[in-house]
Amino acid sequence: MWPDRPEEQVPVGYVTNGVHVPTWIAPDLAALFSKHLGSDWLERQDDPAQWDALLNVPDEELWAVRQSLRRYLFVFLRERARNRWAVERVGTPRVVAAGTLLDPDALTIGYARRFTGYKRPELIFSNPERLAAILSSRERPVQLVFAGKSHPADDTGKHHLQHVYRRALDPMFGGRIAFVDDYDLHVAHFLVQGCDIWLNNPRKPLEASGTSGMKAAINGVPHLSIGDGWWAEGYNNRNGWLIDGGSNDPNYDVVDHADANALYTLLEQSIVPAFYERDANGIPRQWLAVIKESIRTVAPRFSARRMVKEYVQRMYAPALEQRVPVAR
Ligand SMILES: *Cc1c(COP(=O)(O)O)cnc(C)c1O
Repeated sequence: MWPDRPEEQVPVGYVTNGVHVPTWIAPDLAALFSKHLGSDWLERQDDPAQWDALLNVPDEELWAVRQSLRRYLFVFLRERARNRWAVERVGTPRVVAAGTLLDPDALTIGYARRFTGYKRPELIFSNPERLAAILSSRERPVQLVFAGKSHPADDTGKHHLQHVYRRALDPMFGGRIAFVDDYDLHVAHFLVQGCDIWLNNPRKPLEASGTSGMKAAINGVPHLSIGDGWWAEGYNNRNGWLIDGGSNDPNYDVVDHADANALYTLLEQSIVPAFYERDANGIPRQWLAVIKESIRTVAPRFSARRMVKEYVQRMYAPALEQRVPVAR
């Protein structure tokens, strides 16, 4: 639209997405924030300074909430499986795939979003044997919960969905993979609050935002993601994990292989040890430090309140005053 202007004078800016905190925060966590940040914490949700008080929340209290949220997810999954079996009369394999064999104390990775090619829903299955070894560790088990739909016209997305569902049925993963059907806002609430880690592995640079990761992060479910979409802005080295295969090869297979390798290495060397390292009281101190940093940094900056204020200040008000908005 402005072919004559140099790029820095083109009056197109951006506002980063945010999520509606009152909608997505778990009630147990909201109560914890009221106790330690003040009962008006929601009114000050976009003020980064108020969130520093989170660092003073006793680990024991925060861990108790996180354990409860994971258990709510498993009760929810089991009741859905029970209903599928008892009312809809689905077969036993589908009852297993719905998550009945999952362990409510094991490290749980969530992956829930639209199934479509660039989001690479099957990336974590690139090396099935290596994944199976991670999931089926006796001492430190890991499990995966998938949910999602594909667009009716997206055949590639449908194939990815079928393949992931087949993995959930495959005994080689020992019943440690669940696929939750009918992904909707209700399912999303349980998943973004109840998992331990939120996985996001799109093909860079195609992810515009990836808001489910924000919903998870404000609930103390750290993001494990490619440095794309909001994570390119949100990651600070301590508030989650960055999957970086380091390849810019034009061949997708090469990039996928490198990213999958980086993902497995993070799980094996950083994430699983941090989750299972417990002190004498059974508290994962290192893990809780990541959780606190996740909430502290993501809640103020990726809240809808910050987003709406920015729209008003940077776009709507200048437009009203007949000025063009300026890029930051
Ligand atoms: C948040 C949400 C989405 C969007 O998630 P992305 O991470 O942006 O892909 C889609 N569906 C439901 C039900 C959601 O809650």
